[in-house]
Amino acid sequence: MTGLSTIAAISTPLGTGGVGIIRISGKSATEIADKIFVSVSGKKLADSKGYRAHFGKIFDRENAVDEAVCLVFRAPHSYTGEDVVEINCHGGVFLMKKILRLALQNGAQAAAPGEFTKRAFLNGKLDLSEAESVMTLISAQGEQGANAAFNQLEGKLSKKIERITSSLLSVAAHIAAWVDYPDDEIEELGENELRNTIVNANLEIRNLLSSFDSGIAVTSGVEAAIVGKPNVGKSTLMNLLTGYDRSIVTEIEGTTRDVVEETIDLDGCLLRISDTAGMRETGDLVEKLGVERSRKKLERAAIVFAVFDSSKMLSDEDVELIDECKNKNVIPIINKTDLDQILDVDYIINHLGEPIYISAKNGDGYNLLCERVSNLLGTKNFDTTSAILINERQRICCQKAENALSDAENALNIGLTPDAIGVCIDDAIAALLELTGQKASEAVVDEVFKQFCVGK
Ligand code: GDP
Repeated sequence: MTGLSTIAAISTPLGTGGVGIIRISGKSATEIADKIFVSVSGKKLADSKGYRAHFGKIFDRENAVDEAVCLVFRAPHSYTGEDVVEINCHGGVFLMKKILRLALQNGAQAAAPGEFTKRAFLNGKLDLSEAESVMTLISAQGEQGANAAFNQLEGKLSKKIERITSSLLSVAAHIAAWVDYPDDEIEELGENELRNTIVNANLEIRNLLSSFDSGIAVTSGVEAAIVGKPNVGKSTLMNLLTGYDRSIVTEIEGTTRDVVEETIDLDGCLLRISDTAGMRETGDLVEKLGVERSRKKLERAAIVFAVFDSSKMLSDEDVELIDECKNKNVIPIINKTDLDQILDVDYIINHLGEPIYISAKNGDGYNLLCERVSNLLGTKNFDTTSAILINERQRICCQKAENALSDAENALNIGLTPDAIGVCIDDAIAALLELTGQKASEAVVDEVFKQFCVGK
């Protein structure tokens, strides 16, 4: 990429740490760094061949500010594909900001969110789906999620999409030649070969789409809500799942008056879980607002833990909750199994299906609950080394390709001419090229990198 300004940003978190990194990327990276850094060897960074660490001091005019190690990378062999200097200084917020300011005062522009990775994309270092996996990898909160994101960064999805696209491109080219030059000696593509290519491509895309929900559960996590009337043990369950006293547990009804949220890794499945205020009619204004929020959480949740008290009779509030949960992805939970059972469990089974029996207080049933969650979200035997879609943009591109290929299959079945089939195949190819970014509009690319943090 030519003509782009040289950019700089703090690439490590803005907090106190052993080391902080200010990254400078662009044609003038070494020249700018040389204006604020003097190496003990006296060598200029501009003369460095790259892949070298230079020890020295950062200067604000004649005043030394900090000791630093500058790493120099030469284009195109750097993260961005441009010349890059990474200044490793002491990890103090004031210090990092000061060194960044010095870089900006000496000719660098402040990097926009994700601009380093955007430049890497524009320089062909990674495609759009790989760039997105950088963000997923950084924000991963569990072993499986990090593993799955890393495999996409290594190109698992990109290679799969490339393979599918290239098989479609070869038949599309053949059809185009045959349609454009009907008089030439271009062998007509056999119907079987055409059909096989379309069907196989569609099958692979459908497989990607079908694993989308489990992929999201592993990489980004899904919304989960613990609901139930007051005192059934929701907060106790929340604490069991988070592993510490996240919610306040008391015998007093209405203790949890607002939604308490936490992200947990349940056997590789990431849940953004909410302990909600107990659902009941109440005259208390604060509690009422809490109950309203609980209802919203219930509506939005991808998975609902509906909790019932085994030691109490089924109440109107329980029945109302059962009604609200009917069309949800719900796991009925019968809590307090350490006490005598009075609850009419059959009513719950008939309306919500087989429950999980637990004692949130002593942890009984925890493993069964984990297993049910991973079965429900399809994360049980999830292969983190396989190609997966990691966000909604990628899913939409795949869905467009699937629609186009299904149209192509139909066109073939009803005997339409090859050019009609060719149009559908072209649409599928366009959708797949949008996924990898080879044919994505500037607006799409900008939108992707807007999600990134500054410095990445
Ligand atoms: P919430 O209002 O639904 O959040 O219920 P809490 O978690 O605050 O629990 C209400 C009461 O039930 C507390 O006194 C808990 O100690 C008790 N409790 C919760 N789970 C269990 C359980 O599994 N067994 C027994 N015996 N008591 C429980």
